[in-house]
Amino acid sequence: MRRLIFLGPPGAGKGTQAKRLADSYEIPHISTGDLLRAAVVQQNELGIKAKGYMDRGELVPDSLILDMVRDRLTKLDATAAGWILDGFPRNVAQAEFLDKLLSEINQESDIVLNLEVPDEELVIRLLGRGRADDTEDTIRRRLEVYREQTAPVIGYYRHSDRLVSVNGNLSIEEVTAQLQRVVPC
Ligand code: AMP
Repeated sequence: MRRLIFLGPPGAGKGTQAKRLADSYEIPHISTGDLLRAAVVQQNELGIKAKGYMDRGELVPDSLILDMVRDRLTKLDATAAGWILDGFPRNVAQAEFLDKLLSEINQESDIVLNLEVPDEELVIRLLGRGRADDTEDTIRRRLEVYREQTAPVIGYYRHSDRLVSVNGNLSIEEVTAQLQRVVPC
């Protein structure tokens, strides 16, 4: 059983690496971005409310995100097998919520992985990805939002002994190997 939190700027390769770790450790990959995109496709209430924020590269308000995360983490597959969280927490309030939620449901994260990639490389990767929200303006805004709201989450976890930073500016295989080396057995 492993419970992994995955941090890093947009374009760092979190999604790719989180999927590879989820496969190798046989744990659910919980991406709040994927959950939100599914809600947008379904055009349910969450999707309709979230879409505008996502298109602009802003964070979707915590009031919409927190229930979604609680529901997902308390599903049977996650309580039974563990999880890798990708794209959450995205600000310090979400990190505090997660701590509270985990203690309520008697769970603890094992490690916080922080994927580091230089800014110039992030822009190249994001422009090459071609996702609906990968336009130049939205990319710029997402990187700003990362710096202002998400980067402080690294500081939040720095005081715990669970934060490990990994160089994400290597080949996909090399990054996965590094991550596997630091994830506790
Ligand atoms: P991602 O796939 O993680 O890059 O997320 C895509 C978009 O979904 C982000 O730009 C945000 O608009 C929204 N989003 C994903 N996760 C969160 C979160 N934890 N809190 C707020 N908004 C989020």
